[in-house]
Amino acid sequence: MKEIAENLKAVRERIATAARKAGRNRADITLVAVSKMQGAEAVRSAYEAGHRVFGENYAQELEEKSRMLPGDIEWHFIGALQSNKVKKVLYVSSMIHSVDRLSLAKEIDKRAEESVRILIEVNIGGEATKSGSSEGETMMLLEQISSLPNIIVCGLMTMPPFFDDPDRARPYFAKLRELKNKLEKSTGLNLPHLSMGMTGDFEAAIEEGATIVRVGTAIFGARH
Ligand SMILES: *Cc1c(COP(=O)(O)O)cnc(C)c1O
Repeated sequence: MKEIAENLKAVRERIATAARKAGRNRADITLVAVSKMQGAEAVRSAYEAGHRVFGENYAQELEEKSRMLPGDIEWHFIGALQSNKVKKVLYVSSMIHSVDRLSLAKEIDKRAEESVRILIEVNIGGEATKSGSSEGETMMLLEQISSLPNIIVCGLMTMPPFFDDPDRARPYFAKLRELKNKLEKSTGLNLPHLSMGMTGDFEAAIEEGATIVRVGTAIFGARH
């Protein structure tokens, strides 16, 4: 598991380099280590290497891992979320990245005992197979969700279409940034976060304004 510590260090260095290249402050970028389908011992290795922010995709898996691992871990829920699983993820997650419909937001609002930080997931590539609100729907959804008393909308999240060449993902990252700017202007809301960029393209995402990158494979290796 020494490998995980080394991978983590390499990813951190790549983030710092990308930030520098883009003239951005490294401190404005959060690395979410995506540990889905990796064992608790893999998470523990990253934890022991000093990492505290992890991302999970499945409610059951998050619940089990969070019970086995230290309480100062900051868990981000990044997977597709069914309304009947909201209760499971709500109390463990410090941010839910994948809110893509009003009914889900309402369920979160109803179950919440304190303010919940969320991101609106946008299907920026307009792919039929991907979740996320369409670009055109996002304004309305943002207005509706931000009026719910227990929800704080912190920004937008996206998963662009998959490309081998990260430069091809770049226009989608730019599009999400432009959408965020447009929404802030027309709603007056403050949307500080852009969650975008994974193993194959996080440097391009940082150059296009990501404040949160979600990296799994480059840290933990292939998923089992
Ligand atoms: C799995 C996953 C990631 C991490 O993907 P890698 O390519 O392994 O870095 C990031 N975001 C989401 C939403 C994921 O499901």
